[in-house]
Amino acid sequence: MLKDRIEVSYGDITTYKVDAIVNAANRTLLGGGGVDGAIHRAAGPQLLEECKTLNGCDTGDAKITRGYNLPAKYVIHTVGPVWHGGKYNEDALLASCYRRSLEVAKENNVHSIAFPSISTGVYRFPFERACKIAVTTVKEFLKSNELPRKVIFVCFSKSDYETYLRTVDELIKE
Ligand code: ADP
Repeated sequence: MLKDRIEVSYGDITTYKVDAIVNAANRTLLGGGGVDGAIHRAAGPQLLEECKTLNGCDTGDAKITRGYNLPAKYVIHTVGPVWHGGKYNEDALLASCYRRSLEVAKENNVHSIAFPSISTGVYRFPFERACKIAVTTVKEFLKSNELPRKVIFVCFSKSDYETYLRTVDELIKE
């Protein structure tokens, strides 16, 4: 059942012991604020050293590194779109972040993966709209792929958590 492979959780993504956590990075991959800053602080300086070798990342794409001091084995860095009102391909780029992260996860034999809510912080993507895109894109990927087995949406506030729970309930029927 698809429902059994998708979980909504509330907490700090840097504490999750999964095969991979996803980072909402910027195109330089050289660190930033929000979840990116938290991941780099928890992983330690070796993460930045590895990121320096990757030559950045395009918006909508994803690249993998080790997790270093994190409980997670890998970090998958993806670059979400900055919200500019919705007419600049933001929806498709955000969907691409989830799809590319899942593809990279699968290529690396990742069984469990945790996502933060990409683009909804500093990048200002409207939360409910982003949440629907996240859930729909993950659902479509899991339907046709055995890996990752499990996807966790990690919410950083109670209201984000409620929105995710409701959206998963609405969109995942199988
Ligand atoms: P972006 O630049 O893609 O908008 P942000 O890091 O500013 O990225 O925000 C993305 C989301 O990550 C926001 O919903 C924010 O509340 C959330 N967030 C911030 N820190 C953490 C954390 N430690 N664990 C999980 N989610 C987090």
